[in-house]
Amino acid sequence: MAESHPMDAVLRQDRLPHIWCPGCGLGTALTCFVSALVKSGLDLDKVVVVSGIGCTGRVAGYVRLDSFHTTHGRAIPFATGLKLGNPELKVVVFSGDGDLAGIGGNHLIHAARRNVDMTVICVNNFNYGMTGGQLAPTTPLHARTSTSPRGNQEHPFNLPYLAAGSGAVYVARWTVLHVRRLEKAIGEALVKRGFSFVEVISPCPTLYGRMNKLREGLEHLRYYRERSRIVHGADPRDVDIELSGDIIVGKFVDIEKPVWGDTQ
Ligand code: SF4
Repeated sequence: MAESHPMDAVLRQDRLPHIWCPGCGLGTALTCFVSALVKSGLDLDKVVVVSGIGCTGRVAGYVRLDSFHTTHGRAIPFATGLKLGNPELKVVVFSGDGDLAGIGGNHLIHAARRNVDMTVICVNNFNYGMTGGQLAPTTPLHARTSTSPRGNQEHPFNLPYLAAGSGAVYVARWTVLHVRRLEKAIGEALVKRGFSFVEVISPCPTLYGRMNKLREGLEHLRYYRERSRIVHGADPRDVDIELSGDIIVGKFVDIEKPVWGDTQ
């Protein structure tokens, strides 16, 4: 008799094995999402996952849900259209930092400003992984990438501050080492009405790690264990990430305010 797996209802086994590199955190991020989704009790027939382009964007192809792999940076406007077309849907955007905060940055801030009812899960690996490890809007100051071999000279986005400052009603950050807490945060975001944002700090040992003395996924996880500090309720403006510095994680924002559509 064929054995079933608890995630069979949500994961597309026919698409496995996935394309992600050994030590990449994306599999763990996806597992936390699937687990949170199953526990949320949401009607899976009404859950839609939208991603843009990039390593994280492949998530949309691995879930047994209505899902859309959209053009680069356009996951949020696509998701907004879905929500407008059918307000009964639970719309989840699952994409990377380059896709959401770089190429799609304008869509991110305006969807948060409008408080569109959607959940955005942003996996931050500090570079554009799929296209060769280029500098991203989240690359820490002085970090090396394929396009900043002498060290990044640009100040990076602090994504929780960006989301909160733009109007998000729920903002949290966890690393992929914090599997239970990450799963819980995604679960809270899924049932939160309004624009909810979860940043997931994830290893990219193949590119970002190789350039910054973190060549193995295990080294990244050790770094997360040693340098993560849980500060629930931290002011988002104080949670910048510096190269080799502390990573402040936790739930930073959980407020109520009118959702786009309710104000009309
Ligand atoms: S390039 Fe980086 S982000 Fe992409 S799959 Fe490999 S480790 Fe993961």
